[in-house]
Amino acid sequence: MSTLFISDLHLSGERENITELFIKFLDQRASDADALYILGDLFEVWPGDDMIQPDYEQSISKMKELADNGLPLFVMQGNRDFLMAEKFAEVSGATMIEDPAVIDLYGTPTLLMHGDTLCTDDVDYQKFRAMVRDPRWKEDFFAKPNEERLAMTSKYRKISKNETAKKSMDIMDVNQQTVEAVMLEQNVNQLIHGHTHRPAIHNFTVDNKNMKRIVLGDWFEQGSVLICDESGCRLKSFN
Ligand code: MN
Repeated sequence: MSTLFISDLHLSGERENITELFIKFLDQRASDADALYILGDLFEVWPGDDMIQPDYEQSISKMKELADNGLPLFVMQGNRDFLMAEKFAEVSGATMIEDPAVIDLYGTPTLLMHGDTLCTDDVDYQKFRAMVRDPRWKEDFFAKPNEERLAMTSKYRKISKNETAKKSMDIMDVNQQTVEAVMLEQNVNQLIHGHTHRPAIHNFTVDNKNMKRIVLGDWFEQGSVLICDESGCRLKSFN
């Protein structure tokens, strides 16, 4: 038995093949796992739990089917789908987890994050993040008509794409000092996150302690899956 971690599927009606791959993954790989963790950006846009896009319905009902059959299913918000909340949890059968969260992974305390808060060199993004996570911004946003909310979500997505194209690769990666500070603060030697779309397992030492940072990949060309069991964790592709 194993515990599976995925993130950054960016499910969207524009990439139906990835929706199909996700459903196949749930059926063939996840249904008999110890647990499945989805660490953010499951969806490309999420204007609110009351506006679930028709393109997402198939994925959500498959998640619910597995959860109802006993799969422990955990979902963290990403920077795309940060407005996912209780109603989503109800319809998908998932349990929402905080970012950051610490779990016991076969005896190893493991910190789970989406990863965007680790990219502290990207000052503009962190400012934007602080704005949209402000309860007053959310209140304002949810007071707007549905069409306007959807338009705003798409606009932010476009702005983000343009900004991303202009920024250097270094700025958009995690800041190592931030990683170390967060891991020390949370008292863990192992971190799993997504967001940067740079799948890898990084080993390093801090104060003579061996630390591991595992980065999940995205679901653009194929599915990136982290499989963990008593013997450790391995990054694999699913296709
Ligand atoms: Mn992200």
